Amino acid sequence: KHNDGKYAVTLIEGDGIGPEISQSVKDIFSAANVPIKWESVDVTPQLKDGKTVIPDEAIASVERNYVALKGPLATPVGKGHVSLNLTLRRTFNLFANVRPCKSIAGYKTPYDNVDTVLIRENTEGEYSGIEHVVVDGVVQSIKLITRDASERVLRFAYQYAMESGRNKVRAVHKATIMKMSDGLFLNTARDLSKEYPSVEFDAELLDNTCLKMVTDPVPYNDKVLVMPNLYGDILSDMCAGLIGGLGLTPSGNIGDECSIFEAVHGSAPDIAGKGLANPTALLLSSIMMLEHMGLREHAAKIQNAIFSVLAEGKTITGDLGGKAKTHEYADAVISRL
Ligand code: NAD
Repeated sequence: KHNDGKYAVTLIEGDGIGPEISQSVKDIFSAANVPIKWESVDVTPQLKDGKTVIPDEAIASVERNYVALKGPLATPVGKGHVSLNLTLRRTFNLFANVRPCKSIAGYKTPYDNVDTVLIRENTEGEYSGIEHVVVDGVVQSIKLITRDASERVLRFAYQYAMESGRNKVRAVHKATIMKMSDGLFLNTARDLSKEYPSVEFDAELLDNTCLKMVTDPVPYNDKVLVMPNLYGDILSDMCAGLIGGLGLTPSGNIGDECSIFEAVHGSAPDIAGKGLANPTALLLSSIMMLEHMGLREHAAKIQNAIFSVLAEGKTITGDLGGKAKTHEYADAVISRL
């Protein structure tokens, strides 16, 4: 927090539609008098000792401010690039990925009452990047699960459950098959549950969760789901599908010190620069960020304005079936603040 009462927040505008949707966030935040000063940084990757790294200034900015909002970053395919998103997660040790999915009134989907929160372990599991060829035609990929990383994300889930008032944590796993790895995750969850007596704990097999969630998501509305990396990756996209796709889904990557909030969608190169992008997912991510920072009133005010514009359905972008340009939608939100 600066002397003028404003909080400095790092802004990574990102590629493709990133700058356009970032502009909407900036315009709406300034109209809502959110006490934030943006610090824009460039994260174009650099090659240092054969490794893809993020420029030092960008790292210093996030470390100084603790909080960042990030637009989508394009990952060039087939050039031996490590995903910049993965690099960011590793650099700042962003161990938990939080993905809320809430139905949006006015945007018709097969379900209109979804309100799930999923927390994904973000650092290990199948994403440890340990793969090798055993002999020609046989490869081995190692799923790494540690008690430390499991405990860290599970504690976060319990705390999130208490703070959000959900008060129920469900671990999603496949410990019937992966007895040791998922078994460790599940046992750690069970052990920790004793330290959080106000939170109800149970566990469910991943396949069962998928089946039950698409049949009826309502019983999941009062729970925090927590799971190892790959399951979280897949299940969180499934949840996004329940509320109408990735264009409306926000996320937060939480670390011990720094946190980065971002939309789930990519850089949408097909519509970039045309003023057609829907900034809602990045806006909802920025609202998660405000809540994380304790600026709850500002968060609620902007969220209500967004939901009201979407519910009315007159000034919405093309992906939602409307005709509004990005800035027209942002102006409509501003007029509702
Ligand atoms: P994408 O999400 O960019 O696009 C998929 C489709 O959804 C496109 O038709 C696009 O026009 C549309 N779309 C996405 N966001 C939209 C929005 N806000 N408003 C309106 N329409 C929207 O997925 P992709 O095409 O597979 O990926 C493009 C690039 O983005 C790739 O380089 C990929 O690596 C990158 N990517 C980045 C992230 C991230 O930074 N978190 C996530 C996913 C993909």
